[in-house]
Amino acid sequence: MRALNLVADRELVVVDVPPPPPPAAGEVQISVKAVGLNHIDVWGFRGMAFAKRKLPLSIGAEASGEVAAVGEGVTHVKPGQKVVMYGALTCGHCKACQEGRDNFCENVGGLYGFHIDGFSRELMNMPARLVIPVPDGISFRDAACAPIAFSTVQHMLFDNAKLQPGETILVHAGGSGIGTVAIMMAKKIGCTVITTVGDDSKIEGVKALGADHVINYRKDRFEGETRKITKKKGVDVVFEHVGADTFNGSLLVMKRGGRLVTCGSTSGPTTTINLMQLFQQQYRIFGSFGATMKNIAESLDKMADGMLPVIDTEVPINDVETALKRMETRQVFGKIIVHF
Ligand SMILES: [Zn+2]
Repeated sequence: MRALNLVADRELVVVDVPPPPPPAAGEVQISVKAVGLNHIDVWGFRGMAFAKRKLPLSIGAEASGEVAAVGEGVTHVKPGQKVVMYGALTCGHCKACQEGRDNFCENVGGLYGFHIDGFSRELMNMPARLVIPVPDGISFRDAACAPIAFSTVQHMLFDNAKLQPGETILVHAGGSGIGTVAIMMAKKIGCTVITTVGDDSKIEGVKALGADHVINYRKDRFEGETRKITKKKGVDVVFEHVGADTFNGSLLVMKRGGRLVTCGSTSGPTTTINLMQLFQQQYRIFGSFGATMKNIAESLDKMADGMLPVIDTEVPINDVETALKRMETRQVFGKIIVHF
């Protein structure tokens, strides 16, 4: 069977590997159908000195597939069923896992596709409890965006920032995979959405998703534009994932008591912040990583209800390198899906 392996920094190859054995008790065997690419794949592709991992490594942290076989004792899914998979090998025993908050697992075995072999394999075995059934009517392609793109945003906006109807939110990089989802989810509950893009060609696209105001950050400073749009009041919530380039500006555009939620640092991991501003303005800053099991089910429900992911491109597995380079240069609008 085929697998897409990272064999060295910036070197991906499609290889022929032996299929897995039949699933053990408590495991399922998945026939992977579609993999969603994320920025973590770009980090992995470039190579990260601090990540504990061994190459070769099958990439892919977010995917959908079909149950090929189930091991003893598995009852919540059956062969032929469409499913998505949780993106980390969590323990299932700690308090967090027992509560379905797997992103707080105390004994996590690694992120699929980053620390341990991921989903870019035709067949794979994994713990059945990490497999979530997909409601009828959602394609493999769209479902592949539920475990990370949709669920990370669901967790950020609603569990962490507690975004409320009628609030104003600034969504950075509205054309990115998670940016497109954040616009749709915020708009759906009746928020005013301000977003940034790095290219005028993305303006119509983000407006079509519901953005009320669009700022081209390469032409105008988003800080000044956001203050103008909010008549100097500032926004209630900032959806951050850009990092060093924008973080201080993001703090600056919030109203007193504003909430900043972040899940990434694409432009760099380090910044300094003004602590006086932090406490005087009573800002709340949330670091957010991954999602709960419930967030994935909520995401799939939103898809079943008609909120579908924006797809930038669909590629076969032998063309993933081109797709990752496209992500690196920020040309993407929405998600890139790899098909098996
Ligand atoms: Zn755990």
